[in-house]
Amino acid sequence: MERRAVYTAVTVAAVACVVAVLIIRKRSKGIKWGKVKEMFAEIQSKCALPTEKLKQIASAMETEMHAGLASDGGSKLKMLLSYVDKLPTGDEKGLFYALDLGGTNFRVLRVQLGGKKGRVVDQDHLEVSIPPHLMIGACQDLFDFIAEALSRFAALESEEHKLPEGKQRELGFTFSFPVKQLSLSSGTLIKWTKGFSIEEAIGKDVVAELTKAMERQGLDMKVTALVNDTVGTLVGGRYDDSDVMAGVILGTGSNAAYVERASTISKWHGDLPQSGEMVINMEWGNFKSPLLPITEFDEAMDFESLNPGEQIFEKLVSGMYLGEVVRRVLLKVAQEYPIFGDIVPPKLETPFILRTPQMSKIHHDSSPDLKDVGTKLKEVLGIHNTSLKTRKFVVDVCDMVAKRAARLAAAGIYGIIKKIGRDTKSDPKQRTVIAIDGGLFEHYTIFSKCLDDTLKELLGEEMKNSVVITHSNDGSGVGAALIAASHSDN
Ligand code: ADP
Ligand code: MG
Repeated sequence: MERRAVYTAVTVAAVACVVAVLIIRKRSKGIKWGKVKEMFAEIQSKCALPTEKLKQIASAMETEMHAGLASDGGSKLKMLLSYVDKLPTGDEKGLFYALDLGGTNFRVLRVQLGGKKGRVVDQDHLEVSIPPHLMIGACQDLFDFIAEALSRFAALESEEHKLPEGKQRELGFTFSFPVKQLSLSSGTLIKWTKGFSIEEAIGKDVVAELTKAMERQGLDMKVTALVNDTVGTLVGGRYDDSDVMAGVILGTGSNAAYVERASTISKWHGDLPQSGEMVINMEWGNFKSPLLPITEFDEAMDFESLNPGEQIFEKLVSGMYLGEVVRRVLLKVAQEYPIFGDIVPPKLETPFILRTPQMSKIHHDSSPDLKDVGTKLKEVLGIHNTSLKTRKFVVDVCDMVAKRAARLAAAGIYGIIKKIGRDTKSDPKQRTVIAIDGGLFEHYTIFSKCLDDTLKELLGEEMKNSVVITHSNDGSGVGAALIAASHSDN
């Protein structure tokens, strides 16, 4: 009797398996792959960026850079003055703090600088994630949260690094949102980006806000420099390599800064700095041009965003948005063809459910049966039992979105190289180094390789080895501390 029950159970299970396989087959047979491919080819053609088009985009970027330097409001590119006109020499000495606020996390950093010989003698940091409600809440709450963490961190200063009696701690504040800088250590917030939205903070001096919050904590620290993360990355990179000319961020958001000849900044009416140079924060995320390959998916995402019509380049290029564009493409295809089964998976309709790190995991799956793709589709979107063809298709969509982003970022960098005249050879030994930081560049290998290849493609045979990309790991924090050091009154 028992044996019969076992036989029955086994038979039922076997039949269920066969039926399941047949259903999956039937489903994937029900997919008109020819039609899916046709639909996809059309989307791909809108995203296409052949070399010539990228060169035009780089030239458009260069033109906007000129316009933004000529007058405030002259371009979509704000080309903000950083007031950083002294780049690090290596002689910087002492204990300095940095605070890096600009995305999902903020970091506080303590650096002991030891001059040319000692370099960075010691370094210590604390990373805190920002509760989402503080990104859209009250200004004071955000700054109190930050000052509290900073105060906790400062309390852990070791005896050997303690500052001499009577000396105040100094801080370089990396604040990665568009700021109208009034001096090296003050500036008013122009607008929020990357999902932050605290209306009352716009127009306020962010250094004053931070200083008040530090006072409320009883923390004795002074903000010596307010810098953008791109500026910090550039300066941190320059400390290690004197050929660094630009800093680029490819993380949650995207932006770039570079070293400009002060005499060409016609909107600057102050005295020319002794160095003859000034670092410019481009705010390239706000670049916009009819040449950009914008699809219906980008338009819809922009329309529903916190900042419609703004940061268009950033929305094509940066980590906050890439996964979301992939989701929107997959949703549209799934609504027309049953690539994920007869009903559209409900989770696929949720905005921002597919994050860029998950997209990256899908894209990097090199197993023959695309196991990781299957796992991610299950985990993130609740899609079970996908066929290999469907999984391959998902990878193709990631590939399109990631490479469009990487090629555009390369075009932006090429625009800077043209602007500073490093696209042709004046001296055979001349090197130009671009320091890049950010989670997208650091972790999304296919993206960063494509960026590097595309830049070489744009530079051409003669120049491709004269321009080098380096990963400036956390350069922006050290960079802010270095700027504080070189402008310290201690
Ligand atoms: P932020 O830009 O917030 O200062 P990061 O530079 O660390 O911080 O970048 C974090 C961003 O990088 C994330 O929002 C995400 O978009 C992207 N990112 C992080 N890890 C990965 C990954 N493994 N693959 C692709 N993108 C990643
Ligand atoms: Mg950052």
